Amino acid sequence: MTKRKPEDDVQAASTCKDRRINYIVIPDVPLLAKAKAALEKGCSYVKLCIESTKGSSLWLKPKEINVTFGPLTQKDDTLFLNKNRKLILVTKSLTTIEEVAKYVLSVPEANVRIIDSNIVSKYIVRDIDTDYSLEEIISDLKSQDILVSKVVRFKRKGSSDPIPIILIDEIGKTNRKDIKIGRMIFKVNKFIENPKVCFKCLRFGHTQLRCDKAKRCSNCGELHEDNCLNPTKCFRCGEAHHALDPKCKFYILEKKIINLVRDEDISFFEARKRVASQPSYASSVGATPSSSGGLSSAKSQFEELNSAILKLTDQVSALLPLFHQVENLREVNQQCIVRCAEIQGQLLNQVKENKQLKELTESQRSHIEFLQKQISLSDPSFQLHPVPSSELGLVSPPLVSFSEVGELSSTDFGSGID
Ligand SMILES: [Zn+2]
Ligand SMILES: [Zn+2]
Ligand SMILES: [Zn+2]
Repeated sequence: MTKRKPEDDVQAASTCKDRRINYIVIPDVPLLAKAKAALEKGCSYVKLCIESTKGSSLWLKPKEINVTFGPLTQKDDTLFLNKNRKLILVTKSLTTIEEVAKYVLSVPEANVRIIDSNIVSKYIVRDIDTDYSLEEIISDLKSQDILVSKVVRFKRKGSSDPIPIILIDEIGKTNRKDIKIGRMIFKVNKFIENPKVCFKCLRFGHTQLRCDKAKRCSNCGELHEDNCLNPTKCFRCGEAHHALDPKCKFYILEKKIINLVRDEDISFFEARKRVASQPSYASSVGATPSSSGGLSSAKSQFEELNSAILKLTDQVSALLPLFHQVENLREVNQQCIVRCAEIQGQLLNQVKENKQLKELTESQRSHIEFLQKQISLSDPSFQLHPVPSSELGLVSPPLVSFSEVGELSSTDFGSGID
């Protein structure tokens, strides 16, 4: 087990500068046992962090990662590089964890560990004697098949005296109301986590150790170093409070989100969506005791929203006549399209008919020429009349007259043709 000073614990860093932590014990639970306990006790996946003694992963190129870890992992497993260029493997397969751990630990300078924050349930236990050592507590829990990844004992504010309150990080998503230590049953409460806040840029989700943004003043919210004489104003909500005031509605929302992520095992995206869909934004702030500032701000925001809605309603009603016009035009357009299609059909028929007529005219002309020749043979005084061609665009004679000529030619003069 590792005993260490709170200063070493980056993960436990919270907004409270005096973290009231006396000391922390981190038991050395083997990676595979930890993963097994997590998956057996309600965690839907385990995240492995593959890193090196230098920090970032030794495998950084996608192809290299696929070639190296493809054969060691399953179809559903996913890998990605995080902001610190560490390789994160998300899996629900113990075989994957075993294979990957075996391989990574065989490579010099490479290391693999489980990311605890995804797989633990945090419980606060009160009234536990301060002379009860944390190691004793851990081994006692282990004998009841409760695996612990970290235990923290708190101290009295401003002193080093321990108080009878501990925090237990149990591996697995459990929902305990009590816990047995020795022969005693203790009531437990789920630990409500505070958002991780950066003391440099004041944003949530990272610490100043990893911040690449500009320094923001926590008093006025402008971008400058501390020692500020400006009036106090929160850069998140605009209210007259310190940027990291736990009563700030954005702080409260962020707290809800991170606790949802931890308790429900969902993504930040999903948690944000859920929080946003609750009627909580105004009401959660309103329900917070002694947050009259927050309440009035929520009220003014509500009013702003209301007037925005009214404005939108006006704009929509101004658009309505235009919408009707567009509808009418659409109808007219539809009719035009139908009429055009009809006309096109008629034209096509006309073209077809014209073509047929042209053919008929041609054959009629050659018949007339033939007849004229026949007549001139039998009667030398007969004068030949040139027959106009259909190429000249003359209107073809009606079909009836042609058929009459046709009959004449085939019965009276048919034999003469040969
Ligand atoms: Zn930052
Ligand atoms: Zn300032
Ligand atoms: Zn605020």
